Amino acid sequence: MDQHNNPGRRKFLKTGAIAGAASLLPGTQTSAETPPEPTGVRSYRRLGRTNLEISDISFGTSRLRTREEHLIHHALDLGINYFDSAESYTSGQSETVLGNALKGKRQDVYLVSKTITRARTRAERMMHDLEESLRRLRTEYVDVYMNHAVNSTDVVGNPEWLSFVDKAKAQGKIRFTGVSGHAGRLIECLDYALDKDLIDVMLVAYNFGQDPKFYEGLTRGIDWVSTQPDLPRVIKKAKARDVGVIAMKTLMGARLNDMRPYEKSGGTFSQAAFSWVLANPDVDALIISMTSRADINEYLGASGNQQVSQAARSLLDRYAHLNGANYCKHACNLCTGACPYGVPISDVLRTRMYATDYQDVAFARSEYALLEVDASACLNCSGEPCRDACPNGINIDQLCAPTHRMLTHKNQRLA
Ligand code: SF4
Ligand code: SF4
Repeated sequence: MDQHNNPGRRKFLKTGAIAGAASLLPGTQTSAETPPEPTGVRSYRRLGRTNLEISDISFGTSRLRTREEHLIHHALDLGINYFDSAESYTSGQSETVLGNALKGKRQDVYLVSKTITRARTRAERMMHDLEESLRRLRTEYVDVYMNHAVNSTDVVGNPEWLSFVDKAKAQGKIRFTGVSGHAGRLIECLDYALDKDLIDVMLVAYNFGQDPKFYEGLTRGIDWVSTQPDLPRVIKKAKARDVGVIAMKTLMGARLNDMRPYEKSGGTFSQAAFSWVLANPDVDALIISMTSRADINEYLGASGNQQVSQAARSLLDRYAHLNGANYCKHACNLCTGACPYGVPISDVLRTRMYATDYQDVAFARSEYALLEVDASACLNCSGEPCRDACPNGINIDQLCAPTHRMLTHKNQRLA
């Protein structure tokens, strides 16, 4: 074990908090009708070739804001040891909060950060971004550093990125490298990165709505069946090459409120969705934005689950029927090229999801501002070219212009 291998797991076991967790069997989590009791991480999984042993349900910090150090402390107390951040999250606030919260505890956790690059981004700028993240995180290194939100093989294979990674590793600032993504050309990017052996870890949007196998189990036909058949293939390929796989966007839109009337059978919708992801042996772990102590308590109720119970499957089926037709699968790629003005439709709809489903307009606006091309062209477009471009039934022509207005005009209401 090298100097960095100091899993928070051991510390957690020493605290005795696991004693409470061990008394709860998988599938016996509290429902949304009773306040969730804190349990704790029940399973640590090996993250591919990195050999990091990480909490199966880990902390995504994309919505972490100033004065929320207490959330990190609560997560640590419950055994979470993997914290995923990025320079762009909450304009750097999340890294600052994480750095503050982990003062004196750095050796107990694994840290991830990311930077968005373009095909022409130079290595010097990447090093600058990394060093700024290290400064905010109050650390000398991150365990995993990712090329964030990739959507082009020119970005994944940019020689400047590759030389930056070599240099940063040699300097001890990065231990492992990876890519994250959820856009139209994600599959192409992942195949490229895996075939050229460029990554140790990948972070992908993966949930029950993106796997056609989920729909095979539904008894009633659905005409908007998800079309992301290649994602399971690529995840399996990563596993075969011992590349770590982390899933994100696991809630398929996070419309928790819609599901509470159906959460009668001992588990919540979130726990059902997490169980579905964790039941795939090709996925090592998942990250989820944790915005309250109650979130953390509820989410960890699914830790250790490796099967989807009948009750959980019923909840997912119900959710799919209720919400599926409104949910863009993001990386399904089938609308790519439909817009003659180059609007990145799935990225625009992803930022819309942050506002309408996550109810986090500030985060949605900051992510929207990062898009290379926005949806301003939609304001003066008939919508004809993209009207029938989504075989999943998403009304692209009716959603992109309101999304642009909502995410660029401060007083615009949620559309
Ligand atoms: S709008 Fe439709 S086709 Fe485009 S990414 Fe979303 S689900 Fe796929
Ligand atoms: S409304 Fe027009 S500009 Fe907007 S995505 Fe559709 S085709 Fe492109």
